[in-house]
Amino acid sequence: MTETLVVGAGVAGLVLARELVLQGRTVRVLEATDRAGGQIARHEVAGIPLDSGAEAFATRGGTVRAYLERLGLADRIVAPLDAPAWLHARDGVTVPLPRVSLMGIPSAPLAEDVVRVVGRRAAWRGMLDALLPGPRGANAASLGALVRARMGDGILERLVAPVVEGIHSKHPDDLPVSAAPGLVHAMLQENSLARAVTRLRIDAPAGSLVAGLEGGMATLVDALLAELDRYGVPVEYGVRVAEVHPDHVVLAADPDADPATLRIGEDGEPIPDLRHGEIVVAAPGLVDPADGRPAVTTATHLVTLVVNAPELADSPRGTGVLVARGTAVRARALTHLSAKWAWVREAAAGREVLRLSYESAPEVDEALRDASALLGVLLTRAQLVDSAVTTWQRAARIAAPESIPLVGEQISGTGLAAVIDHAHRTAEELGARAREQESL
Ligand SMILES: Cc1cc2nc3c(=O)[nH]c(=O)nc-3n(C[C@H](O)[C@H](O)[C@H](O)COP(=O)(O)OP(=O)(O)OC[C@H]3O[C@@H](n4cnc5c(N)ncnc54)[C@H](O)[C@@H]3O)c2cc1C
Repeated sequence: MTETLVVGAGVAGLVLARELVLQGRTVRVLEATDRAGGQIARHEVAGIPLDSGAEAFATRGGTVRAYLERLGLADRIVAPLDAPAWLHARDGVTVPLPRVSLMGIPSAPLAEDVVRVVGRRAAWRGMLDALLPGPRGANAASLGALVRARMGDGILERLVAPVVEGIHSKHPDDLPVSAAPGLVHAMLQENSLARAVTRLRIDAPAGSLVAGLEGGMATLVDALLAELDRYGVPVEYGVRVAEVHPDHVVLAADPDADPATLRIGEDGEPIPDLRHGEIVVAAPGLVDPADGRPAVTTATHLVTLVVNAPELADSPRGTGVLVARGTAVRARALTHLSAKWAWVREAAAGREVLRLSYESAPEVDEALRDASALLGVLLTRAQLVDSAVTTWQRAARIAAPESIPLVGEQISGTGLAAVIDHAHRTAEELGARAREQESL
């Protein structure tokens, strides 16, 4: 039987490797860095073990929950604090987000909590949604275009954009409609975007849209690695792949070097060559997109602050605050981790844990200032116990090439729900294909 080589030990590569080995395949995983998990990682701030990347998963469709249950993690799944997130609006005022909304799209554009954010004029424009023909906007190229067509610019820019940017680090104009699964389908059935939101929220009541794992999402990586270990799947660290071909990969000569540079190294450097039966790529940037459009990566910078601030003990801004553009605050979002997750609160032992995200690297003092503005509580250097800054590169989606199977967020879209579901399905398809070939 041929060996399957999985390139990249992020969650996509780990899930794929596990599913393939459960089908009886021989699998080997190559990882460029010295650890598995990719954008799921753990760090310690003030001695508190925290997620430094992804910290929650979307519960829609139940796929991640079902997968965690299969891994024996059912009893570690936890719900966040059931309180609305807040929005730091364009006028600098911080208000709770409308209770019934989906990615900021309101179910009742004229509700007082919507008017407070967008103003009465934009809210009335939002009401037009109920009068427009049902299919208007259904073929929109982006979530932004859909909302603009149905509810107008005001609701899009003042409400939906800050929420989407806080979650996806992208403007809704750059996000496919599929990022809100089932939304267009529900809109066509309800003849209204607002009613579609109500319907989807009835299926997934407030507070149940995301969940986490006690001990953090890094617990998922621990569980997947334990499974691979149990089934004898080797994960080789410090092995950077420079090139992928349908039947072999070319390894980078120096695992710490930039792969782009190593491509150039082809002409001089001694590059080991590896021949294998089947290769699946679970790492970004290695395969040329089918449409030739270059892959884009964006950086996200996170600042984690551990502070002594008893005023924050009763979670004045729920799970956190999303930030509209054009205010004095440069952070895109703040998550009050010790309010959101009971396990963080317990580990923090009376201190508060905050996480702010930025598009370009911030100073800790700026993060303290932004946190003060967003939480309405003055936080000073003297209250700071510890801090950490982490930078992540996120790969945008590309058009899938035919030649080499690909998993991971550049093909499935970002977020653990999309990535895990796609990797799982890909493993099943590869298994079915292999069985078919073997029976010939
Ligand atoms: C700060 C942050 C917060 C997030 N929060 C959430 C959240 O709360 N909920 C959610 O659902 N999603 C969240 N996400 C998104 C989610 O984490 C990702 O969509 C998901 O983890 C991507 O997994 P992946 O396996 O596709 O890619 P990655 O995690 O990027 O894994 C790719 C792996 O491939 C390795 N690799 C790269 N190049 C090579 C090479 N040349 N050779 C060998 N190996 C290579 C990398 O080192 C890495 O280990 C967040 C992301 C970030 C950055």
